[in-house]
Amino acid sequence: MTLETNQSNPQAALTRSKIGLAILRLKKNEEKRLKSGHQWIYSNEVDVKATPLKQFTSGEQVLVEDSRGKPLGNAYINPNSLICARLFSRDAAIVLDKSLVVHRLNIALSMRDRIYSDQCYRLVYGDSDLLPGLVVDRYGKWIAIQINTAGMAAVKDDIIAAIDQVLKPEAILLSYDSAMAKLEGLEEIAPEVVKGEMPEWVSLKENGIDFEAPILKGQKTGWYYDHRDNRARLKHYADGKRVLDVFSYVGGWGVQAACFGASDVMCVDSSEYALDGVERNAKLNKVENRVSTLQGDAFKALTELKAAEERFDVVIIDPPAFIKRKKDARKGIEGYRRINELGMRLLNRDGILVSASCSMHLGKDELQNQIRGAGRHLDRFVQLLERGGQGADHPVHPSIPETDYLKAIYCRVLAGV
Ligand code: SAH
Repeated sequence: MTLETNQSNPQAALTRSKIGLAILRLKKNEEKRLKSGHQWIYSNEVDVKATPLKQFTSGEQVLVEDSRGKPLGNAYINPNSLICARLFSRDAAIVLDKSLVVHRLNIALSMRDRIYSDQCYRLVYGDSDLLPGLVVDRYGKWIAIQINTAGMAAVKDDIIAAIDQVLKPEAILLSYDSAMAKLEGLEEIAPEVVKGEMPEWVSLKENGIDFEAPILKGQKTGWYYDHRDNRARLKHYADGKRVLDVFSYVGGWGVQAACFGASDVMCVDSSEYALDGVERNAKLNKVENRVSTLQGDAFKALTELKAAEERFDVVIIDPPAFIKRKKDARKGIEGYRRINELGMRLLNRDGILVSASCSMHLGKDELQNQIRGAGRHLDRFVQLLERGGQGADHPVHPSIPETDYLKAIYCRVLAGV
């Protein structure tokens, strides 16, 4: 068996790689992005004459080769998705199985354990940890796995076995990111505890502070570890101050602000269950007398707080992604503008606005631009003090801009200067 195939003989492309994988042939020059470091293959880059996409089954592993038949690495394929293949190794001899996942987990673990002492972190962040389509969050002995692609779904038993071997957890929860699953044509599958018994709330430590996250019924995998470093910066701004945490979820920012000495904290969220979590986390840290909750739509709640002449020293705005797809960008940007302006209006004359966005379609400069615009509109003087992204447990892949999604801007907002 040979890997040598050429375009004059398309049938040759149907031969298998040395280890028996089907071959996916790219069109001329379409190997450039992969060669520069990217790991995705779009369906329009495939030489479908040589390797028709419909010959593949969803989730199947393939050898990707350039138009001249030079191997580029192994990937898994989803012929029904725009991103039709994702590379998991540049070595044509390696398959995605339990042994590879164990290897990758150990690599991921060695870095996280060097940085974080509490075993609470995102252990696997997809492409950036060379496990495309897989997210693993760790809460000590509790593990949440999120599968986002057909390729990862196809090896889910290997993933579970690998995690069990490397981490020996008490319980494992497996879920699918619903938006991604839809793009991948995966059936809607409810989260499932695949090992042990998972409590509704799991404990974690962040920046030395104890929290509980609703792993079974909460958002995503239960907790947003990505803002850890950004929340830690509150230490410099919260002491003795009145703080408003908008889109608080279970109090990641707000309860942390109270622990850093805030005189009073108000958490706003539309979800009653999330606000139960705020109260739970406030009690856990014995700051419940300084933390209150307000249930409702954030836009409405902030307008009402303004009408009631409430004022805060620090306003934190960390909303869900307003731009989920590129085509929603204009409307989403308008949302960021409105909510930041509403937040700014609630600040005292010398206040801090912490503005965050997890929309990968919102550029760093664009969030900054909306803050600038809001400041001008309200005639405030704005200083950008600190700008942060995601923590080291969400590594950025230098060739995949989509992995660099998180923004947090600390600004000082002054009136009358
Ligand atoms: N800031 C949080 C993460 C936000 S997750 C943290 O650091 O952990 C998004 C939160 O926004 C969810 O809790 C959701 O219930 C809430 N939410 C979504 N839309 C909302 C709206 N229109 N008004 C208020 N809260 C909203």
